[in-house]
This record gives sequence, C-alpha cells and structure tokens, in this order.
Amino acid sequence: MDDKIFSKEEWEKALEGLKDSHRIFVPVKEGDYHTFARLSEENRPDFDFQNTRLSPKSLILPQSERMFDYSLDEKSEEAHILKEATKESSPQVIVGLRPCDALAIQLVNINFDNPEYRDPWWVRGIESTTSVGLGCNEPCATCFCSSTGGGPFNEKGLDVLLYDLGDNFFVRSLSPKGESLLEKVQGGKSADGSAKEEAEKLSASALEKITSKVPTDQLRGKNVNALFDAPFWDEVAFSCINCGTCTYLCPTCWCFDIQDEVLGKEGDRLRNWDSCMFPLFTYHGSGHNPREKKVQRVRQRFMHKLKYYVDKYETGVACVGCGRCVQHCPVNIDIREVFELANGL
Ligand code: SF4
Ligand code: SF4
Repeated sequence: MDDKIFSKEEWEKALEGLKDSHRIFVPVKEGDYHTFARLSEENRPDFDFQNTRLSPKSLILPQSERMFDYSLDEKSEEAHILKEATKESSPQVIVGLRPCDALAIQLVNINFDNPEYRDPWWVRGIESTTSVGLGCNEPCATCFCSSTGGGPFNEKGLDVLLYDLGDNFFVRSLSPKGESLLEKVQGGKSADGSAKEEAEKLSASALEKITSKVPTDQLRGKNVNALFDAPFWDEVAFSCINCGTCTYLCPTCWCFDIQDEVLGKEGDRLRNWDSCMFPLFTYHGSGHNPREKKVQRVRQRFMHKLKYYVDKYETGVACVGCGRCVQHCPVNIDIREVFELANGL
C-alpha cells in the first residue's frame, strides 16, 4: 500500500469511523500526564505529548486480570470447577504508541509466547491488537532508545507508523494487519515525493537529537557470577526505597502474582502485576526469602534486564531506553549509570 497523508482533522474522523468495529485506544491528557484510554466522547485523542507516563502494555497485560472464576456452592454441580473468565477480545487498535513501547511488546512477547510456553491470555491480546505507532519528533533528554535496538522512528513491532508533519500525518503501513486497518479507514490521499522526503528528514533529525547513549556491547560476554558479585550493587541500591515505581512504569517488566479473591460463595482467580522491588516478591511458603535485603532486589531488577534476559534469549537487553524509570524514580536512580558500570566491569 502507498504511503498516505491525512490532515489531523481527517485522521481523528477516520478513528471515529473505526469505533463501531474496533476498540480504539488513544493518548489522552490526564492532569499533568498522558495515558491511553478508549476513544469516546469524553476521551479525546491528544497526540501532542512526549510519552505516556504508563506504557500501553496494560492493554495486553492488564494490571489486574481475571483469569478464572468458580463457585464454592456445594449444591451446585459446578462447585470447585475453574471456568475461564470471559474477556473482551474484539479487535483493538492502539493509536499513538511510541516506537520504544512497540519494541517493548516484542521483547515481552519472547517471554509469553515461545516454544516452551504460550500464555493464552497474552497471545489473544497480541492477536487482537493492531499497533499504530507515532514517531518521536522530539525525544526526551532521558531517552536512549538508539542504544537498545530501537530509535525514534523504529518500525519493529508496529503495523502502521505515523509521522507528525505539523498539520498532517504521514501514514505508512508496515504489515498485513496495518494494510487491512488502513483499507477500512476513510479519507487521506497518497503521499507524494516531497511528503516522503519530509518524513525521512524528520526521522533522521530525531535520531540526531538522542544525546543519551548507553554501552551494551560487553554484556553478553560477561561472566554472570562476576556481575552478580560486582562491588557496585551496594552503592547502586543505597538510596532505593523499594517503591516499585520503576517496575510499574517499565514497558518490559512483566512479573505478576496470581491470587484468589472470594466473596460469599463466588471466587475469582486473578493475576496482578508484581514487582521484584517488593520484599514479598520471592517470599517462599517456608518463610525463607532469597531476596530479603534491598540490595538483592535492586540487583535482581538490573541483572534481569541487562544479563539474565540477554543470556536466556540470546538477544539484546530487556530495556528499550524509554527513560521512564530515570524520569520518575523518586531518588534519582539512573539505569544509564548501571549500564556503564555493568558493561565496564
Ligand atoms: S523507582 Fe527508584 S526508589 Fe523506587 S523501587 Fe525503583 S529504583 Fe527504587
Ligand atoms: S528499564 Fe527504564 S528505560 Fe528501560 S524500558 Fe524499563 S522504564 Fe524504560
């Protein structure tokens, strides 16, 4: 399919036109931040943002998700039988996610959909999602996506990519899912050569604006035990208050805990996001906790992203350089410094 040009007004109307057949999620301004919300009369899209505070991963891996329900009513023939909870799985479109967040979904997918294990809830979420990215014209000072396999206009994991050309969006389809979505969209016209040139220039200039870089080239070759026992972990962890902000904001953190909630004779089995920063995260039923100290938990977070994931999946780091943890950590712990320390050990 040819690249297209939509005026911003036309694009908003086009999204409205998809609402009957798709659940459309867009960036919406909420107080000082942007968040993804379902397009509606109240939730109007606002594409003038740097990035959302929370990544869109919750649209595929919800913060709290009902997996099963069951009855404890002994009179019922179905007592104590787990039944899969019904869940909305009609097609959804995430519009305006940043390329780093699209890449993050690909990294998490390696964990949830691989030859050893296919998580049915995750897989259904991925299958029902079309990702329409929005390139970053003005990356934040804390972004380092070009060091971690991405870039401000990176196409990995996206079905469509939008380039913000001021009054217009330049719209490029990147996959069969993207083609099929754009075929349903009303409006727009074929982009001419000058629009394509403008889009290419925008992408090159955004890449130049990424001044924050981290080294990753030595991580794969490092000895895991040497890194685990490195002398810098106490200092890295010193000021951490184990609030969990970094893990909840991170688009590549996927840990969850499964819990039952019972009300009367009805029960739900839920999975909820968890965080390796919390003392209960690895608390064993025996009472033993292999990560009872803060330094052990902080080390786990960084070792997972910079070393365990790299070694297990023989791929890059489990960080897309979105900079959220750098921006929002209340005590200014900066993963870019940990990259320097670990890579240079
Ligand atoms: S956000 Fe900062 S203080 Fe909070 S758990 Fe993460 S590293 Fe620690
Ligand atoms: S570790 Fe920090 S910079 Fe890396 S993907 Fe997670 S939130 Fe973004």
